[in-house]
Amino acid sequence: MSARPQPLMNAPVPPGDSEKTDPKDPNAKPAALLKVLSPNPDEPRGALAATPPLHPTDELLEELERESESLEKATPKEILRWAVDRFAPKFTMATAFGPEGMTIIHMLAEVAPETPIFNLDTGYQFKETLELRERVKEKYGIEVEYKLPELTVAEYEAANGGPVYKSNPNQCCFDRKLKVLHESAKGHHAWASAIRRDQSPDRATAPIVGWDRKFQLVKISPLANWTKKDVWSMITSENIPYNPLHDQGYPSVGCFPCTRAVLPGEDERAGRWSGFKKTECGLHSS
Ligand code: SF4
Repeated sequence: MSARPQPLMNAPVPPGDSEKTDPKDPNAKPAALLKVLSPNPDEPRGALAATPPLHPTDELLEELERESESLEKATPKEILRWAVDRFAPKFTMATAFGPEGMTIIHMLAEVAPETPIFNLDTGYQFKETLELRERVKEKYGIEVEYKLPELTVAEYEAANGGPVYKSNPNQCCFDRKLKVLHESAKGHHAWASAIRRDQSPDRATAPIVGWDRKFQLVKISPLANWTKKDVWSMITSENIPYNPLHDQGYPSVGCFPCTRAVLPGEDERAGRWSGFKKTECGLHSS
């Protein structure tokens, strides 16, 4: 189960790469495609499944746009404080313990350590990543909750005649990450995301605060205006724990079968799903 996937020449295009439909809305997708992206399209998702539910009414969307603009010059910590004041206790965060996520955890430890934080434990994470969860617990007293897929790795591979990541990583990510994330998002109103605008063209237009249509939640991106340098400056100056694999040529760490070290000059995400036409697990693609 730990072998690296073989390159697949005609790998399927991730759902997030599909054609956009509304030029005014970079997040717009046809309803049919949104249904494909959701495990149970007829069930309320995210904030719509909360008590009380939060609906993306015109009033809410206007508020989010207004707040997003006014937070453009705010620091990440100020943005998090606003998010906690506005949405806690229905404010959460998913983390894969990347450098960006670690800075947010560090800031949340000061601003609102009671914020529920969870990790999608696919069963294929590096031991270094799992150990980092323990270091977070020791340093901050924050217990990041593991969210697990229905089937164990052994059950999943047995049911599919072997590792799905080798032949269809989109399906594997859908089953072991996206479905779990949809389930975990239910009942919350908002979640923090660790994306930066300078990471990819897809992320370049991310608002600080906006409505996440896929997960039906308010998405807050406190690091949207940060650079990679800003992230690492904070990690160094504040002595924030980080994944030791970053010092071994892995700028981006995901599941071990789908992550390799990058070569000098390669893009920082070149080591993810190397050999496949896939660059995102689908969590942040709309
Ligand atoms: S990153 Fe790879 S192993 Fe992990 S869920 Fe996606 S396809 Fe499966």
